[in-house]
Amino acid sequence: QTALAGSPQRPRIALRPAWNFDAALGERKLCTLLQTSSLHAFGADALPAAQSAAAALLAYAEHTQGRALAHVSSLRVERANTLIDLPEATRRNLELTQTLRGESQPTLLSLLDTCASGMGSRMLRRWLLAPERDRATAKTRLAQIAALRDGGQRELADVLRNVADVERIAARISLRQARPRELAALRETLSNAEQQIKQTVGQRSDIASNFTPIASEMALDPACATLLAASIAPEPAAILRDGGVIANGFDAELDELRGIATNCDAYLLDLESHERERTGIANLRVQYNKVHGFFIEVTQGQLDKVPADYRRRQTLKNAERFLTPELQAFEAKALSAQERSLAREKLLYEQVLEQLQPFVAALMRMANALGTLDALQALAERSLSLNWCAPQFVAHPCIDIRQGRHPVVQARLNEQATSFMPNDCALSAKHRLQIITGPNMGGKSTYMRQVALIVLLASIGSFVPAQSCTLGPIDAIHTRIGASDDLANAQSTFMVEMSEGAQILRNATAQSLVLMDEIGRGTSTFDGLALASAIATHLHDKNRSFTLFATHYFELTELPAKHAGAVNMHVSATEKGNDVVFLHTIEPGPASKSYGVAVAKLAGMPQSVVSQARNSLNALEAAQQAGKAQVDLFAAPPEVAASAESAAEAALKAIDPDALSPREALEALYRLKAIAP
Ligand code: ATP
Repeated sequence: QTALAGSPQRPRIALRPAWNFDAALGERKLCTLLQTSSLHAFGADALPAAQSAAAALLAYAEHTQGRALAHVSSLRVERANTLIDLPEATRRNLELTQTLRGESQPTLLSLLDTCASGMGSRMLRRWLLAPERDRATAKTRLAQIAALRDGGQRELADVLRNVADVERIAARISLRQARPRELAALRETLSNAEQQIKQTVGQRSDIASNFTPIASEMALDPACATLLAASIAPEPAAILRDGGVIANGFDAELDELRGIATNCDAYLLDLESHERERTGIANLRVQYNKVHGFFIEVTQGQLDKVPADYRRRQTLKNAERFLTPELQAFEAKALSAQERSLAREKLLYEQVLEQLQPFVAALMRMANALGTLDALQALAERSLSLNWCAPQFVAHPCIDIRQGRHPVVQARLNEQATSFMPNDCALSAKHRLQIITGPNMGGKSTYMRQVALIVLLASIGSFVPAQSCTLGPIDAIHTRIGASDDLANAQSTFMVEMSEGAQILRNATAQSLVLMDEIGRGTSTFDGLALASAIATHLHDKNRSFTLFATHYFELTELPAKHAGAVNMHVSATEKGNDVVFLHTIEPGPASKSYGVAVAKLAGMPQSVVSQARNSLNALEAAQQAGKAQVDLFAAPPEVAASAESAAEAALKAIDPDALSPREALEALYRLKAIAP
């Protein structure tokens, strides 16, 4: 099946015929594309499922492009077990490249992407969505970022800002669709940028040594630059059809056609004086009219001087009109010079595109190098301006983050001049599951997500928003967050919640990071509580994953007492009167109480609802302590709370600030504080 363009919610589905998915066909198509007799060299010869997917993809691409994808010149097998598994739910919940609302910012990518080119942005996106389990790539990138941080990042960004999108242009060359200005831009990049980049990264030995493999990818046969320099006009027209695309001096025939078209008048004057001289006819005239075209006109009295090569064309009363072979040849050229020059340019341009074909693979490698450099300089820039640190990789199981921050939430808070409260996270084989409790809005989701984002950033080889970060091996990041209905697929909130949960329990290992936010909320209290505790136990005992388990079921805080690998953590909050103040710090131990009613008040619930809820809550708590089963949830709330507030309010209203001395004002303040609830 192929998803075609449509609304993001409901993509249009077009069914592809079954034979499009034939594995043998896929293998043949790939061999043809890669010009090889077998896929063995690519390690892709024994992968029938991948080959059948490739068959369908290539058929679709050929269908939409109308030709084979010549710029696809290599193949890399990515096995699920070489990448850190980021299921769709994780990509969505962590808002990596899209917000939950489907917007492109603010996301992790939009925060990271200070790339100077499209190639860099696309590379960064690829890195983010395909972190590798093996740390070799990440370590190389960290060393490169560290080198750029020490100097060179800004210069590199400046150079990269002026490079052409070599990747897009190379792809368009291979499809014979590159436009004249794209080739001109490519020419500039080949003649300037390559050199400048080599200078920038080669200036210091520490940078140069880190970038040798990338620099060697940039090497390109100089014949490509020479061809572009010779063939494409300095400032070509935007569209081939307008002409002025091929450089002067590239093709003699085109030069001549252009000469005729632009110098037609001068040519005729030239011819006229030349013929006057040759024949001695002083009033000989070379002329043109629409009916007869070009001719040489000689008056009656001079006819005896007409040379033998003049052929009579027309006789007038006082004059004769002649043609010469030269004039005839000129006429044939001049009349269609414009069209022929355009046709010649089109032909030449197509030839140039053909001659560029052998360079496409090398251009793609160069684009890859440029994109890599750009993504690295962006990560270096971010790490500097956002004050990030280099993560440490270790072989034993752990996620140890000191003073970690959620980069996107922090950026938003900074815009509002509010500071972000950093938090630690210590997960190890010994303490692998955290039960996190605390009020709504306290920062549980932010904390859990920031741990996942830091792990992901470290895994792609980026610096991370923390004071320090030590990371053991990670094979997957699973998330079960929020309540999203998938009505299009006829799944209820609860069904989605349970099927995502089931997926995680089936797949998570001891090297997986699992975020569970409020699992079990979609059903009744007892059902939900029972499920949540069974799921937490399974994650602890069977999966043994690093788990952050945020819950409103206070009963789950008993889990650590019975399971040694679990610990209680809570987001701290304090009460001020009947209001709650969030501290956003994660601390050991269970939350002391729930602040649901206080948060509802903050959210602007009517005072009557808040009072009634608080009353019911008190009654429920008292009933629980007394072992009573029944509570009247609909009893009217006593007036005490309201009148206590009015006493403070009344005292406040009674104060006339202008009438108070400083000392009286201070006393009033003490009085108010004493009666405030
Ligand atoms: P709920 O249970 O309702 O989902 P929550 O406990 O998950 O709430 P978050 O959504 O994580 O709370 O955070 C709520 C808001 O608190 C955030 O949007 C952010 O503005 C603020 N916040 C969260 N963590 C921090 C922090 N560490 N420092 C400063 N502000 C924070």
